[in-house]
Amino acid sequence: MSSELDYYELLEVERTADAGVIKSAYRKLAMKYHPDKTGGCSDGEARFKAVSEAYECLKDPQKRAAYDRYGHAAYTNAQNGGGGGGGFNGRGAGGFSDLGDIFETIFGQNGFGGGGRQSQRRGADLRYDMEISLNEAYHGKQTEIEIEVSAPCDSCDGSGAQPGTGVKTCTTCHGHGQVRAQQGFFVVERTCPGCNGAGQVIESPCRSCRGEGRVDKPKTLSVNIPAGVDDGTRIRLSGEGEAGARGAPSGDLYIFLHVKRHSIFERDGTTLFCRCPVSITTAALGGSIEVPGLDGQRHEIKIPSGIQSGKQIRQRGAGMPVLNGRGQGDLVVQVDVETPTRLTARQRELLEEFRATETGDECPQSTGFFSKLKEIWGD
Ligand SMILES: [Zn+2]
Ligand SMILES: [Zn+2]
Repeated sequence: MSSELDYYELLEVERTADAGVIKSAYRKLAMKYHPDKTGGCSDGEARFKAVSEAYECLKDPQKRAAYDRYGHAAYTNAQNGGGGGGGFNGRGAGGFSDLGDIFETIFGQNGFGGGGRQSQRRGADLRYDMEISLNEAYHGKQTEIEIEVSAPCDSCDGSGAQPGTGVKTCTTCHGHGQVRAQQGFFVVERTCPGCNGAGQVIESPCRSCRGEGRVDKPKTLSVNIPAGVDDGTRIRLSGEGEAGARGAPSGDLYIFLHVKRHSIFERDGTTLFCRCPVSITTAALGGSIEVPGLDGQRHEIKIPSGIQSGKQIRQRGAGMPVLNGRGQGDLVVQVDVETPTRLTARQRELLEEFRATETGDECPQSTGFFSKLKEIWGD
């Protein structure tokens, strides 16, 4: 598929040629070498394909930039999904792995437009949803999961070929994985139907995996959940996803964490929040309450005298740990003053006695409120 000739030379243009010049050069040459003109001679057809390929690359500013930067060999290798190198997914790779990453970043997973050989495509990334408690999110957790995931077939070592038999180059596409067909003036490229894009066909498919090169197997993975994870945190287990077809690298497994609601605490980042009922006597006289922390300790929260409902008290460093970092967030306690609902006769007596001594100065807010009402009513 790939010509050895430089794309600029093929199109007979300067390396600095602009898009318009490249386009008209292509048009001229495509007319010249079009099979209708050359009568389908193989030389003309090859030339026509090469010119089309050069134009496909140079007309796209991104592809052209990559071609200019990395040169012909690197570009066509990337287009073929790495060719014999097999190192485009950054695993056990030789010199091309970094290059592969660059191409992936620019052009997405599948490399250049439709060019990637499927046999080289890495396996799919998998998602595993895991529910944990807020307590586990606080402390972190070492756990194991069991998943059923496709893994390289042992019988054929992932090749897909029955042991003792080999693979041969696909005769339909001559190993390119893509076939080109003409539709009028245009050349369309599509995945080879003979080999599904692999470029190679198996003489005799492995009986264990039916030629897929991978089989579903249960496996147990240990997962380390660090302290401080939040709802929606993802943990990546590199290479633990689905095996690639016929020896291609595996994808990754992503564990999506879901933190269950806690009966007392709400969480916002590293801040823990809870509402805490406080009796009217403690609210009026001051005192302290105990709040159990997720660290297993009791936190004593000082209540200043005269505190109102809704007031928040911050306890530094008693919140959630910082994920992959140092320190902890704060614990925020919101006071809810609770009116007593079950009074003994004695308590009622004391409160009646208290009421008899009230002048209105004890509760400035009430006094202010009622004087405003008086203004409204015009008294
Ligand atoms: Zn097999
Ligand atoms: Zn083929």
